[in-house]
Amino acid sequence: MTNHRRYIYVTGGVTSSLGKGIACASIGMMLKNSGIKVTILKLDPYLNVDPGTMSPLEHGEVFVTSDGCETDLDLGHYERFLNQDLTALSNVTAGQVYKQLISLERRGDNFLGQTVQVVPHFVSALASRIRQLAEESDAEVVIVEVGGTVGDMEAEPFIEAIRWMRENEGIQNSFCLHLTLVPFLDATSELKTKPTQHSVRQLRGLGIHPDAILCRLNAPVGSDDEMAALKQKLSLHCGVSEPGIIYLPTLPHNNVYAVPAWLEQQGLISVIAEHLGFPGASPEIPPVWRALSEHSSLQVRVADDKADGETQESVNGLESVRIGMVGKYTRLHDSYLSVVEALRHSSVRLGVKVDIIWVPADLLESEEASEHLSGVQGIIVPGGFDVRGSEGMIRAARFARERSVPYFGLCLGLQTMIIEFARHVAGIEGATSREFDPFAEDAVIDLMDDQREVAESGGTMRLGDYACSIEPGTIAYESYAAAGDRSEVRPILVHERHRHRYEYNNSYRDVLEPRGLISSGMNPNLGLVEIAEIEDHPFMLGSQFHPEFRSRPERPHPLFDAFLQRANEFETEGMQRRLMSQSFSGVDSL
Ligand code: GLN
Repeated sequence: MTNHRRYIYVTGGVTSSLGKGIACASIGMMLKNSGIKVTILKLDPYLNVDPGTMSPLEHGEVFVTSDGCETDLDLGHYERFLNQDLTALSNVTAGQVYKQLISLERRGDNFLGQTVQVVPHFVSALASRIRQLAEESDAEVVIVEVGGTVGDMEAEPFIEAIRWMRENEGIQNSFCLHLTLVPFLDATSELKTKPTQHSVRQLRGLGIHPDAILCRLNAPVGSDDEMAALKQKLSLHCGVSEPGIIYLPTLPHNNVYAVPAWLEQQGLISVIAEHLGFPGASPEIPPVWRALSEHSSLQVRVADDKADGETQESVNGLESVRIGMVGKYTRLHDSYLSVVEALRHSSVRLGVKVDIIWVPADLLESEEASEHLSGVQGIIVPGGFDVRGSEGMIRAARFARERSVPYFGLCLGLQTMIIEFARHVAGIEGATSREFDPFAEDAVIDLMDDQREVAESGGTMRLGDYACSIEPGTIAYESYAAAGDRSEVRPILVHERHRHRYEYNNSYRDVLEPRGLISSGMNPNLGLVEIAEIEDHPFMLGSQFHPEFRSRPERPHPLFDAFLQRANEFETEGMQRRLMSQSFSGVDSL
């Protein structure tokens, strides 16, 4: 049991989207790599109980923890950076806490007839949630990210909860880092400190004096003299000692994996560690992190965007593996954040570059699949909901199957792969999902039995970890075995994260399996097919779970590794032509 628990609070000022989640994850990682037991929590001031019911376009990806909580995508960063599983305790929303308070109030015996108020009840309930995580994790340091921006009306009770915590847990056991923007003004060619000064004043007005300020710059760091003068000025106006003023510019290629090392070089980690009583903490950076932070292994563009010079070059460059991502929410790349990160992790392991080309699924409904996919070496159909774009995904699956292009279906992508197979290989013309057509006769994808009575949308899907037994002799088995779990004849048992309501309808297995649709992963308790793959294809595989949630830099996911490997080996017709002309020009130049 930890006696002196320490807390790091990270607040944000001036504007949102400055990368508070990455800053928290980076600090957590560096403390953990110094041998300190760390956990982390995100406070979200919105009224939704969780982001599960929000559109990915509104809120980015919904991340799922192993215990089945639908959370903010920052938890994905935390897990990837800390290389540590988190639970439902790590994401607290205003909605959750209000819901809990109101149900206690309705029971009638909890508040002794008092008026239930934001102060003290809501604020102390927030503090209890922070303490609960601290106790259950038994961490030495608990990092608390406060969502939103200081000055937002809805963030105020959250700041107040932190003020309470700081006073009750001992101010010496707490460190407050305020993240702000120091904008560069083109007109005068200078970095401006005023927004930071105002934001710190606002925070102090709420009773919190920051111990350090992390200044995000929208420009490269200036000369040493210029930056030293700026530090002096910020220190003077904000009442924070100079070593506690840290700059964070946007790092080359926007590479978030370079942030931990940057913060360490700038001295932030030692300032925090010393303040909290861990002097001399010296974090080790694992080699794979150096590789991830030193080069940009991945580029992203949208199919109908005009490629600029740089991306054009990378598209034509032979060293990049081109992956077409056919999804519904392609406009906001954060919607599939964990998929992109999983590809990045595998790309570093395999030593290749990845060029992701987003193809909006509905584009494939009106235009030929080949128009957008003929240049790609692999296709991913990620998760999604509702019928929109589904016919485009089915076309993408057909294209992949008929042309032997590696295909990887994630949840919805497994379902569309099965529908395509049922329609065009097994001749079940009307094959579809109950989600797309509630009255379908041939619902090869159907609502799970335990979902039939579910009336509410929030938190009611099949969520979190379920066991999956991988059949020997399949591509799935080879992929997992290559990652180290080789038992040759016995099935491999894995646990993977889920978020869905529909499943492969077992009553069609008798028809589809003899035609070449292999059920390569099964849930041993429920008899559900969790992985399916298509026979005699280099890699056409779909999983009902989301493997992307378990990929880490230190532990890329075996299925992503295998998919990317096959995609790297796949040569499109255009590539073969280019390869030939290159070798001729090579001969010419000799
Ligand atoms: N909409 C599908 C289902 O609920 C797939 C969900 C997903 O891709 N996460 O089963």
